[in-house]
Amino acid sequence: MYGKEVLKGMTAYKQGMQISEVQRKYNLEKIVKLASNENPYGFSDEVKSYLQTADHDYAFYPDGYAYELRKSLAEKLEVTDEQLVFGSGSDEIITFICRAFLHEGTNTIMAAPTFPQYRHHALIEGATVKEIPTINGRHDLLKMQEAIDEQTKVVWLCTPDNPSGEIISKSEFTQFMDKCPEEVLVVLDEAYIEFVDEDLRFDLHDILARYKNVVVLRTLSKIYGLAGLRVGYAIAHVDIANKLNIVRGPFNTTSLTQRVAMIALQDDNFIKETKRQNDSVRKQFEQFLDQLGWTYNESHTNFLLVHTPIDADEAALYLLKHGFIVRSGSLLGYPNTIRVTIGLEDDMKALHGVIEKLQKEINSGEVSR
Ligand SMILES: *Cc1c(COP(=O)(O)O)cnc(C)c1O
Repeated sequence: MYGKEVLKGMTAYKQGMQISEVQRKYNLEKIVKLASNENPYGFSDEVKSYLQTADHDYAFYPDGYAYELRKSLAEKLEVTDEQLVFGSGSDEIITFICRAFLHEGTNTIMAAPTFPQYRHHALIEGATVKEIPTINGRHDLLKMQEAIDEQTKVVWLCTPDNPSGEIISKSEFTQFMDKCPEEVLVVLDEAYIEFVDEDLRFDLHDILARYKNVVVLRTLSKIYGLAGLRVGYAIAHVDIANKLNIVRGPFNTTSLTQRVAMIALQDDNFIKETKRQNDSVRKQFEQFLDQLGWTYNESHTNFLLVHTPIDADEAALYLLKHGFIVRSGSLLGYPNTIRVTIGLEDDMKALHGVIEKLQKEINSGEVSR
């Protein structure tokens, strides 16, 4: 048949339900999407004003090197221009890494469960995937390190991790890196870094100075609220960045997204304010769950992996019928959990009500365990 042999056993990405789809299916007036960890506060006002006046000449190709965005981000991060790689979301950079570093006969190490795109693209490149089970949602770095052999080319660390929300501590990371051979590329996926309290974040300059083999991935899809525009970036040593730029398509970011990203990255207040509100609403949600007796993983993100007393698909369907789209953990590798994005305060209060109703129906036997 058509295509690479490995594709036979794989399927296309199964996305969460779209709002309009749920509206049609269940005939609901209001739907709240808490399924993809988007920013419920939208994005920076500076970006909004810019979008009202934006007039690019779309007949021309964009600057594939993204010169102005590059200069501005390099300055913000205090790295050199050549250390940055831009992608159509960090998802695309994951494909660059697999394309540039993995092939048949090599292997790659990751946690399981974790963000599924690492595995997906590694398999397409023909690499062997070594999956190391998480412990209560946390990466097992000792086992991951033990799994490294001569054929290992890439190790993926996701912190905070999606879907668990848990982080890798600074000491765990340094212990791991100090034992990891320098030839092995270590990808540090920091899609949610801006939600992490400052004292728990890794120091970017420290890491880059100490370890030549690290690639840090970040995105404008999560706290920056620009998931629809598709832009993410990598920070790495020049040699690695150069390799990734070779496999990058020549015009993979658009003129509009480059300009918007530049403006968004300068609005630190929006980021600070989003984190503040997220922390507060997440705390309320946690306290609500505590009272109800439901447990969850420790989150350093804008989502919570909630442990459900009934089957995850059933819990997710119940919430869906009441107007809330969440991700069932059975798709994410954690059965009996749901991953809930932290939404606006009022929407979350309404969600508390629905969860309470669900618990009552479980108690009365209307919904079975
Ligand atoms: C959302 C996410 C990404 C990718 O986001 P993009 O929209 O492609 O930038 C990467 N890693 C993790 C862990 C994520 O949750």
